[in-house]
Amino acid sequence: MNKFSWYEAKSVEDALENVNATSSDILAKKPENSTVIFKAGGIDLLDLMKEGLVNPGAIINIKKIPGLDKIEYDENSGLKIGTNTTLSELEGNDLIKTKYFALYQAVAHAGTPHLRNSATLGGNLAQRTRCWYFRSIEHQCFRKGSGTCYAQNGENEFHSIMNNQTCASVHSSSVSTALMAFNAKVEIASSGGKTREVEIEDFFVHPEDNSKNETILQAGELITGVIIPPVKLGTKSYYIKQGARESHDWAIADVAVVTEISGGKCNNAEIVLGAASPVPIKAEKAATMLKGKRIDEALAKSAGKRSMKGATPLSGNAYKVPIFKTIVKRAILKSV
Ligand SMILES: Cc1cc2nc3c(=O)[nH]c(=O)nc-3n(C[C@H](O)[C@H](O)[C@H](O)COP(=O)(O)OP(=O)(O)OC[C@H]3O[C@@H](n4cnc5c(N)ncnc54)[C@H](O)[C@@H]3O)c2cc1C
Repeated sequence: MNKFSWYEAKSVEDALENVNATSSDILAKKPENSTVIFKAGGIDLLDLMKEGLVNPGAIINIKKIPGLDKIEYDENSGLKIGTNTTLSELEGNDLIKTKYFALYQAVAHAGTPHLRNSATLGGNLAQRTRCWYFRSIEHQCFRKGSGTCYAQNGENEFHSIMNNQTCASVHSSSVSTALMAFNAKVEIASSGGKTREVEIEDFFVHPEDNSKNETILQAGELITGVIIPPVKLGTKSYYIKQGARESHDWAIADVAVVTEISGGKCNNAEIVLGAASPVPIKAEKAATMLKGKRIDEALAKSAGKRSMKGATPLSGNAYKVPIFKTIVKRAILKSV
């Protein structure tokens, strides 16, 4: 790891005045002493630095900025979670467990308790893919500017099975799978006191739209929080993560389902697949199958099958297709 200097940001404005890079700006470049990047919990940033992929000249610690670690709920505006809230704090919040159960489950299955004590919500959304071609300094990859995704014809066991023609990586944030099912928005601040809210679906960027970035974040932008609409009466939700082992690994496949049930029928549904595509995606046609219907095993099974229509698995990851079909079915049946 190269030497870097350290700055404690005192406020959002203070942080924004001093930053000039995101991880994609300085990816795989030689040590560059003029680049300045944010650090929250430091889990992913320090990994990228140790892997030799990111060599910032300076780090701005945003973790101690006052007020960015609050969890607030209002019946009209919904849930607002400050960016620096740790995954442990989310996991331990009773309101989230009661009203946004799938989010609680997603957080509780991310990493280990030790990691969740440091990892923040904002850092989780801005973390980089775990694709081994991306993470290895020895390899080139599409996300690092080579123009070629070597996973497509290489080692692709944990890679995407949909939308994988340009880049076969998957996004690593399983928390965002649940956030997307609740139609969350990401709040982003930029200098001059400007703030914007972006649908989480628009926050993530497909590789064909931008080869470098996995999110819309630009240097000089700070996630300040995530906002989730209030839950409607009859809302049920469920999240399932399938990993190689039930300890500390990223998802091989994960799904979040949110339904609105009234009179025994499903009025509305969202199904989101994580680790299927380079960014989390909604299985809209599968969700539509549930609307206006009484959910039973046969319908859940059909929706699970529909969620995989159009899948284009690679040489080493066709095994993910039946896993997704099964976990989608199970999550639907648990959301009734
Ligand atoms: C063994 C292991 C298993 C894991 N398993 C899972 C899992 O199952 N599911 C899952 O979702 N994650 C998993 N993770 C990833 C972990 O959750 C993330 O690395 C962590 O959430 C990142 O948060 P952080 O606060 O540490 O971010 P940092 O490392 O501090 O930052 C990450 C990136 O985000 C940028 N950044 C941070 N905060 C902001 C902000 N507010 N605005 C703009 N940019 C910002 C930083 O510049 C950096 O580029 C795992 C990690 C490990 C090591």
